[in-house]
Amino acid sequence: MPVFYACQRCTACCQWPGQVTLDDREIRLIARFMRIEETEFIEQYTHLNTTRSGLSLNNQANGACVFLKQGDCSIQNVKPQQCKDFPNLWNFPDFENICQAVPMDMDTKTFREQVAKATGRSLHGKHVDEGSHHAEQPLSLRKGPLLKPLKKQKD
Ligand code: SF4
Repeated sequence: MPVFYACQRCTACCQWPGQVTLDDREIRLIARFMRIEETEFIEQYTHLNTTRSGLSLNNQANGACVFLKQGDCSIQNVKPQQCKDFPNLWNFPDFENICQAVPMDMDTKTFREQVAKATGRSLHGKHVDEGSHHAEQPLSLRKGPLLKPLKKQKD
């Protein structure tokens, strides 16, 4: 039975050092949400990622995300896809030790609905692992690329 992890907004994942990568659409959305020009957003809040393939959000001096403010995500409504996808579409071994998301067993249909609600992604036609609590491939903390394409369903 698939396990859906219900995020409790503990913000632990916002405090791990790492990379949150952004695509053009996310840059546009966040800049608009902040009511600043995209160029200003890019200059003030992003840097070239380690693979030099795109932009990532800046971190605070302690490694936390630049948008973690007063114990909460200050861009929650427009947060990057990478943040929305954790821990249901990517995670790493033993992530439960630091993430307070509540595991919930549910049927595949409900799981797909909950993932769509949490991430905005549709799992239609994608394989859902019925037995594992983890993504199929161990992934580093906030290091891209983070989402491994799921296998197609066999039927
Ligand atoms: S995904 Fe997990 S670590 Fe991140 S805020 Fe939600 S409960 Fe906390």
